Amino acid sequence: MKPEYDVIVVGAGVGGCMAATTIGTRGRGLRVLIIDRNPMAEVGKKTTSGWICGDAVGEHHFKFIQLELGITFGSPEIENKVRAVVVSSPDRRVSHPFEGSGYLLDRPKFARRLLDEALKTGIEYRDLTQAIDLLEDGNSVTGIVCQDLRARQSRPPSITSRLVIDASGMSTKLRRNLRIPSFIEKEIDRDDIEPTIRLNARLADGLEVDTSRCELILDAERAPGGYLWIFPKSSSKVNIGLGVQQKRTNKSLETLLNQWIGETPLFKGMRRLTDDGNLPGAWPVSVRHQNDSLVADGFMLVGDSGWFPNPLSAGGVGPAMTGGLIAGDVATAALQAGDVSEENLWEYNVRYVEKYGNKTAALEAFRTYLQTLDNSELNYGMRNFVTHKGAIAFSWGEIPELSLGDKIQQVALGLRKLTAFKNLAYSVSKMRALNELYEQYPKTPTQFGEWKKKVDTILSEIRTRLR
Ligand SMILES: Cc1cc2nc3c(=O)[nH]c(=O)nc-3n(C[C@H](O)[C@H](O)[C@H](O)COP(=O)(O)OP(=O)(O)OC[C@H]3O[C@@H](n4cnc5c(N)ncnc54)[C@H](O)[C@@H]3O)c2cc1C
Repeated sequence: MKPEYDVIVVGAGVGGCMAATTIGTRGRGLRVLIIDRNPMAEVGKKTTSGWICGDAVGEHHFKFIQLELGITFGSPEIENKVRAVVVSSPDRRVSHPFEGSGYLLDRPKFARRLLDEALKTGIEYRDLTQAIDLLEDGNSVTGIVCQDLRARQSRPPSITSRLVIDASGMSTKLRRNLRIPSFIEKEIDRDDIEPTIRLNARLADGLEVDTSRCELILDAERAPGGYLWIFPKSSSKVNIGLGVQQKRTNKSLETLLNQWIGETPLFKGMRRLTDDGNLPGAWPVSVRHQNDSLVADGFMLVGDSGWFPNPLSAGGVGPAMTGGLIAGDVATAALQAGDVSEENLWEYNVRYVEKYGNKTAALEAFRTYLQTLDNSELNYGMRNFVTHKGAIAFSWGEIPELSLGDKIQQVALGLRKLTAFKNLAYSVSKMRALNELYEQYPKTPTQFGEWKKKVDTILSEIRTRLR
C-alpha cells in the first residue's frame, strides 16, 4: 500500500522546522507532514515552563540559511546582535573570544517564525500530536505511532511514510526505540549530559550590561563541570543561566542559580520575566559530539535528538538549523530518487561532518579535560596558556601548538598545575588525532565500522585518563 506521506518530521522545533522548510521548498510535490506535541501557539516549547534556552546563536548559521534558502531573520524574533561570545576565567580577570558575532533570540517568536516559514511551503502540520513509537517492517522505518493529545485514544493510530525525521529533541523516544539494524547509537552516557537552567530577567534601575558581547564564565564552584552565562538582550534585559555535570555536585540547579544570583551585584533587585509564558526553567543539553551516524533505512536524526549542541558552549540552535537544512536537502534528493536506504541517506552524515561535525569530537575531548580543573587551575591556565588569537582559532576547530618544555621554563608550575598542564598537552594531542579522523569520515556505510572503532578508542582513552 502507498504510504500516506513521503516524509513525517517529528518535532516542530528548530531542527524539525528547518528540515521541513527545506523539503517543502526543494521537493515541491512531496507529501510532507510535520507534527508537534504542543499546541500551535506554543510551537517549539520544550517543557511546560517554556522555550528553555540561552537564546544565543552564531551569525554564521543564519548566513548559511540565507544563502541556501533566502530566509532572513530580524525583529521581532531577534532581540540583539552581539559582536562576540567571550569565555571568562572564574575570577573574570581574563576573557577570550569564542566564535564570532551572533544574535540573541526571542525564542517563542523565533519558533513561530520558523513554523511560518515551513507552512509557507505548503506542507501539512498537526499540533497536539505526540509520536510514541516508530513503525518498522523489520529492516526499515515505515512511519510512526502517535497520539492525538486532544482525544487520548485507547489505540493510538499509525501514520505511514517513506521516511521519518526525528527532530523531537533531547527527550526523543524514537531514537531510543529504533529496532532496525543501523549504526545509530541509541543511548547517551550520563556524563555527556548537562542539566541546565536559565531565566530571562530585567535588571534593576541603574544597572546595565554590555550589549555587545555574550559572556560564558567557567566556574568549577558555582557551576561544577559546566559554566555560567550572562547573555544581553538589551542593556537592561538578560538571559542568565548555568549548566553542570551532574556527578560533580549534590546541589540542585535552582540552589546553584539562586546562590549565584545572590552573590552577584549586577543581579541585585532584578525582575524575572515571564513574557509569552516563557518561564524560568531547566532542561538537559548534550555536550558530546553528534551521533556518528544520523541515518538508518527510512530514518534520520536532526538537532538535539542527534546530539548536535556544541560540546563546549552547548549551543544547539545553529547546528539544528544547519543540520536541519542539510537533512532536508538529502531527504528531498533521496525521496525523489525513490531510495531512502541508509546508504542513500549517508550523504547527510558526510555533509554534516564537513559543515559542522568535524570538530565536535575534539571539543568533547577538551570539555572532558576542562571538567577536571578547579578554579585556580582555570584562572591560571586562561592567563598563561591561552591567547585571543588561539582561542578564536580553537573555537573554529584549529588545535593550538603546545610545547611543554617552553611553558615549564616560562612559568614556575606547582605539582598540581604541572599535572593539569600535562593533561592539557595530552588532550591537545588527542584532539588533533580526532580532527584528523573526522577529515577521513567514511564516504559510505561499509567503511564506517573500522573508522568508528578508532574514534571510540581515542575517546575512551581520554575518559579513562581524565574522568
Ligand atoms: C538551558 C538551556 C540553554 C541553552 N542555551 C542555548 C543557547 O544559548 N544557544 C544555543 O544555540 N543553544 C542553546 N541550548 C540548546 C538549544 O536550545 C537546543 O539545542 C535546540 O533547541 C535544539 O533544537 P531541536 O529542534 O533539536 O529540539 P527542540 O528545540 O527541543 O525541539 C523539539 C520539538 O519536538 C517536540 N517534541 C518532542 N517530543 C515529541 C514527540 N514525541 N512527538 C511530537 N513532538 C515532540 C517538542 O515539543 C519541540 O517542539 C540550550 C539548551 C538549554 C536546555
